[in-house]
Amino acid sequence: MRTTRTIRTIRTIRGMQRLSRDHVAKGGTIGLVPTMGFLHDGHLSLIKRVARYADLVVTSIFVNPTQFGPQEDFNRYPRDVKGDIAKVRAAGGHVVFLPKAGEMYPEGFQSWVEVDQLTRRLEGAERPGHFRGVTTVVAKLFNVVRPDAVVFGMKDFQQAIVLRRMTLDLGYPIRFIIAPTLRESDGLAMSSRNRYFTPEQRPEAIALYRALSKARKMFRAGARSAAEIRKAMTAVTKKVSPGAQIHYISFNDFQTLEEVRTVRAGVVVSLAVTIHGVRLIDNMKLS
Ligand code: AMP
Repeated sequence: MRTTRTIRTIRTIRGMQRLSRDHVAKGGTIGLVPTMGFLHDGHLSLIKRVARYADLVVTSIFVNPTQFGPQEDFNRYPRDVKGDIAKVRAAGGHVVFLPKAGEMYPEGFQSWVEVDQLTRRLEGAERPGHFRGVTTVVAKLFNVVRPDAVVFGMKDFQQAIVLRRMTLDLGYPIRFIIAPTLRESDGLAMSSRNRYFTPEQRPEAIALYRALSKARKMFRAGARSAAEIRKAMTAVTKKVSPGAQIHYISFNDFQTLEEVRTVRAGVVVSLAVTIHGVRLIDNMKLS
């Protein structure tokens, strides 16, 4: 078990591979938390979580160009590598892996990893090619870092389900953990994209959590019709943020992601909404 608070920053695949190989050769175990940086407490909760399952905690920071659509926010995605490294250290992480795009996508790159059916719904239907970028980069991170355990956030629940499928399908010997969503005190799910809001716009971002809370309240009061709950969620969203553009409000089986019309405990209600030009997603497992 490592006890020092030193942190190593590695920028090359070779360097990362060497460190992983040496650590495993000494009988150590590796935990990995992949991120796109601009870290918040949600990310840090994953770093602390993975430390339960491994003695070397690696956090990767890579704003992955292939998972952004041409009209999306790749160029303006917030970045703060120095601040991130300090946060990872404070959270108890040992290694920050910071590959350059040219390392992850060398010239002539043409090998992709795709998960089929699970990626056709929800975010996959809205953002063509998004999951192909995610699965490819995460598979590559798995190959380079060779983790024994990984943690992904429920915040991006479809991503977690897709990556869990990939892990199983491709036979990675990795313990796969899905961790709960951390929220601000008013309920807004923590996200690097929240910083896009001006202080005046920020109160409207709570619309998603309010809509989800409405769904949970209705479910607990006996409502079972997805259509009826969706209608109420739409009204709540519009009330909190009149200009909101709702992309979907969906009710899905947690394992198969199949859309359900009659909700039951364990179904995940999720939504994607653009508020003042910022596309947010959130979800809640009904219980
Ligand atoms: P990102 O940097 O947005 O790609 O996220 C990296 C990881 O952090 C993913 O597994 C996300 O699901 C997870 N994550 C993002 N936001 C939160 C949050 N509010 N609470 C817990 N995990 C989160």
